[in-house]
Amino acid sequence: MKRKRVLIVEDEQAVAKGLIYALRAEGYEVFWARTGAEAIELTSREQPDLITLDLRLPDLSGYDVCRALRSQNNRQPILMLTAKDEELDKVLGLELGADDYMVKPYGLRELVSRIRALLRRAYGELAATTEEQVQRFEGLEIDLTRLEVRLDGGVVDLTPTEFRLLQHLAARPNIPVTRSGLVEAVWGYESDVNSDRTVDVHIRHLRQKIEKEPANPTRLLTVRGIGYKFQG
Ligand code: CA
Repeated sequence: MKRKRVLIVEDEQAVAKGLIYALRAEGYEVFWARTGAEAIELTSREQPDLITLDLRLPDLSGYDVCRALRSQNNRQPILMLTAKDEELDKVLGLELGADDYMVKPYGLRELVSRIRALLRRAYGELAATTEEQVQRFEGLEIDLTRLEVRLDGGVVDLTPTEFRLLQHLAARPNIPVTRSGLVEAVWGYESDVNSDRTVDVHIRHLRQKIEKEPANPTRLLTVRGIGYKFQG
């Protein structure tokens, strides 16, 4: 299998070096951008499979970089690295399209395993589907071959994480799935307090994209005290 390529966007040299060393030891090909402008340039030139994005950069903010990358149709997972006080809602913001986040200071091993999980989820399981496979519901199609969601015939622009979240719930219509079950299935690691909120934020984004009235969802329903279910 081709080596996966990771772009690290980080202006602090010591932090970047530790991460580069750890990721190379895992067999990844690693690129390093110290500024937002460099990150955007390197992404278009090298097409990395995953990007870790520091929120505080000398030129642009991580938010701006994330938004710019998504607007240029880069669909790879983006893992935001934030300071504690950052607003999770904004970090995983709908218009930004980041897939996951970690709060500084983080453990290097934890970060590497998070990256491994995101890569595996994004390129491993779903990418292995070759036969025509479409989940069909009224007005909604989840195309596992093209990794595409269509709402009343039109393609909905989902991030890979949103796609996997919707797909996982839709594969179990009308069955409640816990937040921790979703974290393990979609993000690929064991859940904690923060990751439960990550699920909630992503569900909210999905509702904005596929529900006619996001505040009164008819497909992605909250199951109080448990988690969520897809109304099939
Ligand atoms: Ca920084």
